[in-house]
Amino acid sequence: MSNLETAPQEIRCAAAAAAGPVVEPLTGHAVALGGPRAMTVTRTLPTRGRRMVGAWCFIDDYGPEAAAMRVPPHPHAGLQTVTWLLSGEVLHRDSLGSLQEVRPGRLNLMTAGRGISHSEESEESAETLLHGVQLWVALPDGDRHVAPHFEHHAGLPVLTEGGAQVTVIMGSLGGATSPARAYTPLLGAEVVISGSAALPVEPGFEHAALLLSGDVEVAGARLERGTLLYLGCGRSDLQVSGQGRFLLLGGEPFEEEIVMWWNFVGRSHDEIAAFRQGWAEGETFGTVRGFDGAPLPAPALPTTRLKPRGRVR
Ligand code: MN
Repeated sequence: MSNLETAPQEIRCAAAAAAGPVVEPLTGHAVALGGPRAMTVTRTLPTRGRRMVGAWCFIDDYGPEAAAMRVPPHPHAGLQTVTWLLSGEVLHRDSLGSLQEVRPGRLNLMTAGRGISHSEESEESAETLLHGVQLWVALPDGDRHVAPHFEHHAGLPVLTEGGAQVTVIMGSLGGATSPARAYTPLLGAEVVISGSAALPVEPGFEHAALLLSGDVEVAGARLERGTLLYLGCGRSDLQVSGQGRFLLLGGEPFEEEIVMWWNFVGRSHDEIAAFRQGWAEGETFGTVRGFDGAPLPAPALPTTRLKPRGRVR
């Protein structure tokens, strides 16, 4: 997915780990993805007051709705994209030549590293509603220039813990480890809860929960659609109950400050400007073959330099 906000703001993510457990609802905002039949997504990261949860720096959720996704070729650098569907199908193409249909319960993980471009499209279907999430993971400085690569994982580990069935998408939980390549200690999991459970989470991680469907309580708080529940650090057991499905994200607080603009995660204005120019000139990010349509142009940079500003609230 692409960040198609017409005027992407400079977002300087600075990790600010909570000292311990908190229960802090973060209200998302609606973003139109653009195009003639614009699909609207709910963005809960970055949001006012919090830019990251571990290395997770971007969360869009959409559907369920009879919508078609059509995101033309666009570049990424400095991050990984995680595509996770609950229903529907999305076709991924990238500049490495990958062509992969992502389906519910399977992970599409694209590591942009120093640069890649991709497109995403789906057919509109009244029978099969489109419902999913698009997440970005910031790469740490030592790994952000790795060669781009694409992974598809159809056999993710599933852990049963009390009334919870946990599919581990990234990282580890309760001894179950995803085969997906991660560059910082983190967790991404889909939890289906029927009854109650205490999930064994990493106390050194901060965590957050996003409702996907149903009626779920996490750490005593009821999850709401479109709201990310931030849970802070320092938990070793996460109490969950209800009937439904949610996404559990976590990670070691990301201590590096990053500049996030459009579809790039960098460290400075000049680097972001170079990424933008590289895309405009058709270099650096390769070519997506097979997509019927023109690539996305980059928006204009802001008229002032993207400068370190501390955390945006
Ligand atoms: Mn994208």
